[in-house]
This record gives sequence, structure tokens and C-alpha cells, in this order.
Amino acid sequence: MKRVTIIGGGASGTLTAVNLIKHAGTEKIRVDLVEDRARLGRGVAYGTTLSEHLLNVPAGRMGAFPDDPSHFHRWLAGRGYSHSAEAFVPRKIFGEYLSTLLDEAAALAHASGSTLDVYDDEATDIHTDESGCVVRMASGSKLLSDKVVLAFGNFPPPDPFVADMAYTSADKYFRDPWNSRVYREIADGDDILIVGTGLSMIDVVLRYERIGHSGRIFAISTRGLLPAVHKACPGYPSFADELEGLTRITDVVRVVRRHISEAAALGIDWRAVIDSLRPVTQTIWQRLPIAEKRYFKQHLSRHWNIARHRMPPEAAAVIDRLRADGKLTILSGRLKRIDRSNGRFAVSFSDRGRYEALTVDAIINCIGSETDFSKVASRLVRRLIAADTIRCDELRMGLDATPDGRLIGPDGRPSERLSTLGTSLKGILWESTAMPEIRSQANALALRLLAE
Ligand SMILES: Cc1cc2nc3c(=O)[nH]c(=O)nc-3n(C[C@H](O)[C@H](O)[C@H](O)COP(=O)(O)OP(=O)(O)OC[C@H]3O[C@@H](n4cnc5c(N)ncnc54)[C@H](O)[C@@H]3O)c2cc1C
Repeated sequence: MKRVTIIGGGASGTLTAVNLIKHAGTEKIRVDLVEDRARLGRGVAYGTTLSEHLLNVPAGRMGAFPDDPSHFHRWLAGRGYSHSAEAFVPRKIFGEYLSTLLDEAAALAHASGSTLDVYDDEATDIHTDESGCVVRMASGSKLLSDKVVLAFGNFPPPDPFVADMAYTSADKYFRDPWNSRVYREIADGDDILIVGTGLSMIDVVLRYERIGHSGRIFAISTRGLLPAVHKACPGYPSFADELEGLTRITDVVRVVRRHISEAAALGIDWRAVIDSLRPVTQTIWQRLPIAEKRYFKQHLSRHWNIARHRMPPEAAAVIDRLRADGKLTILSGRLKRIDRSNGRFAVSFSDRGRYEALTVDAIINCIGSETDFSKVASRLVRRLIAADTIRCDELRMGLDATPDGRLIGPDGRPSERLSTLGTSLKGILWESTAMPEIRSQANALALRLLAE
């Protein structure tokens, strides 16, 4: 019987398990899924219990299977939810959907003589040799398998860098915005600084608005740019052929800009042009030389993220209202100092040469998950890197791997045993963190593991 251990029970690990059982057919397979969070199948994104945390992709496109993007929307209807295919549904409902798929896969496995077992544990080490893989867990138990899938997902963000990092040990500094302490330990009336102005910041602000927080909220990033807002619009035809062979990012940008102007002249929204790039983004990225990727990462990725990772209109309406009421202030600048002062944080930052200061009671770090695997706070990752079992990709945006997820070890050869998917492939594929990519990767990975 083929044996696969999957480490991480977020969307990536869950869908890999589901696809393994689904595609195994009459072949018997043993799938072990290890997850150290209580809310299995949900991960960081869909483990939220808060209704105001919405999906940033319309329901009609969030299906778990690449050949059936509307699967989630039909599941909603079957459960009595009345959301339209265009609706931005609470993420916790999507978590429920993933859990249901996992339960169904476990039942299917049981009926067909396979197994799908879930371990509420932390994987702490992996040893591989010709005979197979041994995954060690914090509880002391071990899992033996032929293949291991690393579905790590999102790690807590790095601490914002300032001259003196002592602030990181203060009680009201929250490194991880997804930790429920954030909402328990910040008192009503506290002034809050959120570092980062992306979708995580939006999530945190929506929660405070919902509970009627009376303190002021400041959010800062280098440029102070907010995610763009989703808008339903007709599609734009693919112009992938014009991008073929381009190996300079500035040439790619020039073509995209021209299409945005042409679309505007036809009354078509820029978002449709950006969305039309989705099927070819990974190909464009893989074609770029490393220097061009670095240039993009440093100078253009911020703009890409704003245009690509958009917020639902409902969220934007709340943000606009809070800004108009003076309850939320978006700042631009670089943090210079964060010092403790009478139990509060004295924060200084520079904005285009001008120094500014503010004092707050709490700081929440929303700068985005740590992608440099040499720095992530995970015992397993540290051990695997120290043992040269895995290595960072050249851009330190994830792990070195082939585009189909085989991890590359110190000898530069793709591993026969270890694979990954999702966020850890960001450096290799760029577009690799959202559901449309994850469902395709989970499906393809399952088929490959079954075929090998
Ligand atoms: C707040 C937020 C909102 C998002 N919203 C959307 C959205 O609306 N639509 C969309 O398409 N995408 C969204 N995304 C993108 C998101 O990254 C993916 O959709 C998806 O949730 C990623 O799943 P994952 O399994 O790869 O990672 P994660 O959800 O991070 O799950 C990884 C899991 O692995 C576990 N793990 C890690 N190491 C170990 C170990 N050693 N032992 C045991 N378990 C371990 C972790 O506990 C975690 O539960 C969002 C992301 C975030 C952070």
C-alpha cells in the first residue's frame, strides 16, 4: 500500500489529501495528515471564526477542484446558504467547506480500503533514505511513508525592523495578527498602530469596527497604499502571445500598461486586464532571469500586490467610512524607532525626509508572513535546513523546488521523496498562494504521487 504523509492541514494539505483519495480509485493508499492547529482543514485564512472576515475571491471561483471552480458555490446552495456566485462569503464558511471535503474523503477512503488519518501533532523532523521517510512528531510518535508533502503555508510575519528591537517583548506588541490574543488583550480605548496596509490590516480593522473599538487606529506602510477594490467587470481577451519571449520585466510592464490604456478606451476596467494575466503569470515569472525577478520583487511587487490582491467592496466601504470619521488613519513612511514610554509605544517614522511621531498603546504586525525559510519560527523547517534536506530558493521567497513541487536538496537534484505546494513555491512560481493555484497544484501533486 502506498503511504503519503502530509505535514500541514490548511487548504493545501487538505486538498492534497482529498485528491489523493479521490484519484486513488481502486488502488489502496494510506494518507496521514499532520496538523498542529486545532482547526484542521482551515489553516490561517479559513480558521477565522469571525463573520466579517470575507473571502477575497467571489464564491463562484473558490471551488476546491480545478475542473470545477463553481463546486463551492453549489455546496453553499446545498447547505442552504443563499450567496450569489459573485458574493464574497465569510472565510469561516469556506473553512467549513474544506472540513466537509476532508470528512467525505475519509469516508471514501474507508469504503475503498484506503485510510485517511489525521494527527493533531507537530511534525518536528523528517529523515529520508532509499527505504522511505520517517516523520517524527512532538508527541514522540513517528509516521513511516514513501513520500512526504510539506504543506506549511503561512508563517507568522517577521518583526518590523527598527534601531532598538526591545519593543518586541512588550505585552501589547502582537507579532502574529491571527493570534486571538490580539482581540482579548487590547483594551477598548487603546490607540493601535498596525504595521502594514494590506489585506491582513483590513481584516484587523474590520474586527475592531465590529466590536465598536473606541480608540484610534493608525496603519502604516512605506507608501501607505491600500489594496484595490474588487469590481465586477466583463473580461478582457488574453494577450499572452504578446508576452511570449519577453525576459525583461519592464517590457512586460510596458505591454500590460498599453493594454490597460486600450481597455480603458473601450470602457473596460483595468482589473479585467490584470485578471487576464492570471493563467500565464507563472509562465512569465519562470521565464524571467533572476536579476529581473529581483528587480520586480524590490520595485514592482508592491504595486502588483495592490492590483492583484483586492478587497471586497463591503470591506472597502467600512474602511472609507472609518477614515472619513477620523477613526482610521493611513500613514506612509519608514519606521525608525519604537520605544517604550510610560507603558505606551513612542513611534517615530520618516516620510520622504520628514520625521513624524505618534504614541500608541498597542502594535499589531500585519506585514505579511515570513517567506525567508532560514528565519521562520518552525522547529521542523530549522532542522530540515540545518540538515541540508531542503534549501531556500534564490530569492528567499520560499523553498527551492521544481515547478511541480519536488524539493531540491543540496546536491541540486529534485527529491524523490519530498514535495511541497502553495506558499513555499512563491519564489519558483510567484503566483502560488491563492485557491485557484492551490487547487491545481494539489490535484497535480496527488496525481504525480499516485503515478510514481
Ligand atoms: C488571512 C488570509 C486570507 C486569505 N484569503 C484568501 C481568499 O479569500 N481567497 C484565496 O484564494 N486565498 C486567500 N488567502 C491565501 C491563502 O494563503 C490560501 O488560500 C490558503 O489558505 C493557504 O493554505 P495553506 O494550507 O497553504 O496554508 P495555511 O493556511 O497557512 O496552512 C498551513 C498549515 O500547516 C500547519 N503546519 C505548519 N507546520 C507544521 C508542522 N511542522 N506540523 C504540523 N502542522 C504544521 C499550520 O498550522 C497551518 O495550519 C488568504 C491568506 C490569508 C493569510
